[in-house]
Amino acid sequence: MKLHAIETGMFKLDGGAMFGVVPKTIWQKTNPADENNMCTWAMRCLLIEDGNKLTLIDTGIGNKQSEKFFSHYYLHGDDGLDSSLKKLGFHRDDVTDVFLTHLHFDHCGGAIELDGSKEKFVPAFKNATFWSNQRHWQWATKPNPREKASFLSENILPIQESGQLKFIERPSDFTATPLGFDVLFVDGHTDSMMIPHISYKGRTIVYMADLLPSTGHIPLPYVMGYDTRPLITIEEKAEFLQTAAEKNFVLMLEHDSVNQCCTLVNTEKGVRLGETFALSEI
Ligand SMILES: [Zn+2]
Repeated sequence: MKLHAIETGMFKLDGGAMFGVVPKTIWQKTNPADENNMCTWAMRCLLIEDGNKLTLIDTGIGNKQSEKFFSHYYLHGDDGLDSSLKKLGFHRDDVTDVFLTHLHFDHCGGAIELDGSKEKFVPAFKNATFWSNQRHWQWATKPNPREKASFLSENILPIQESGQLKFIERPSDFTATPLGFDVLFVDGHTDSMMIPHISYKGRTIVYMADLLPSTGHIPLPYVMGYDTRPLITIEEKAEFLQTAAEKNFVLMLEHDSVNQCCTLVNTEKGVRLGETFALSEI
């Protein structure tokens, strides 16, 4: 098995929204904001080469939204999904499986594109099976008012219409998948988000999605304002961070604009940042 980080570009989100109740005087030390109070975030996917499977975890924001939509998110940086795959000698048609941690647009927007006529939404990975889970699918397709702006029907419904959608079962909150890795289900950020745990070179690599967007979010109360159930996030984070520190898990950070991966350590103040490094250094 080989793992590769796939950088799909940077975007900006309001710093206050990203840090919830934590005041700017504190969070700006780790995540400096621009003149509009926006901070820069990565959209970093994970590619798993395993036998005849090539699995992409999350897809970034994609390119099919309107100019007005993108103007809110200040896309920047030199990387893109196709160029990042190309550097590794791959094309998107080589991808056999696209695993979506959850269906917020910055995680699944790249799963769907406009076809040649620019009129129809079609899967952007024509040979892939797309993986979500039933509970999250229902949650995303009948969105609550709080998350409605994050669940865009054009990112979601065409996956099902294509016949390429499959669901990961949730018999318990930590379970094996047909893709050769395990997932932890969490419900604080959104309902039934999936956190992949991958055995690799004797270590456990955990793709953090929005359970821990960046190293700036490690202290327990640092929970995004976007989270639908912040107290549940804190419980889920507390349990996960403790385990991750004890077992020396490698955390792969989807949104950290500087650090691809980190470890955690136990301190008197609680679990804190250990080392930071690139995925390729493992
Ligand atoms: Zn999210």
